[in-house]
Amino acid sequence: MLDKIRKIERIFKQLDKETEKFSKQSGLTCLTNCNLCCMKKGLEANVLEFLPLAYYLVKNSLHEAALDLLDTDPEHCINLAKTQIQGVTEGCSNYEHRGLICRLFGNSAVKVKNTKLAVYTCALMKNEYPEEFKLSMERINNGMNIPVVSDYYYQVYFIDSQLANDYNPINVSIQKAIEQVAYYFSNKPVRKPKVKRSPQTEE
Ligand code: SF4
Ligand code: SF4
Repeated sequence: MLDKIRKIERIFKQLDKETEKFSKQSGLTCLTNCNLCCMKKGLEANVLEFLPLAYYLVKNSLHEAALDLLDTDPEHCINLAKTQIQGVTEGCSNYEHRGLICRLFGNSAVKVKNTKLAVYTCALMKNEYPEEFKLSMERINNGMNIPVVSDYYYQVYFIDSQLANDYNPINVSIQKAIEQVAYYFSNKPVRKPKVKRSPQTEE
């Protein structure tokens, strides 16, 4: 389990580097204080992409509280902070441990017509940066680097195909990830400390 979590974290780290680079080069960046995509009802994700979040919650004994949140607003991701600053909902309360879809959306590409790439982003960004968007569409099809959604899903698929194919409403996937991690760590065999053998016992 820990090995899978570390592998996913490494993929996330690489992805974050790539999206950051693309964002800088393209000029496409999220609007200040925007979290409209997180507020969308009925978001879907797979269980695997939330194992790092589940691990963080279980390790810090925050998972019970997270599970309690599931009943309060089942339509929205439980990580969406409910507090508001100057009338704006604060954003992701677990940004560091957000899922794959959360990292990809906005600054990645999808394959259209087999080989052609299209920037996978929201209408807000397209409207805010029409020139940058148009130019990016051309540049990514002429060799500019951009993370490709299907490539990243393939990468996680090879870590655990069953959990990667387990798609649900985002909160259900988070719940399943917490259950998997909590179950694993509550049943993990405790390693006995190695007994140092004294020279007398060695015959
Ligand atoms: S991807 Fe678009 S909707 Fe989502 S936070 Fe960024 S600007 Fe807002
Ligand atoms: S995990 Fe965070 S970034 Fe992803 S949908 Fe939920 S609130 Fe948004």
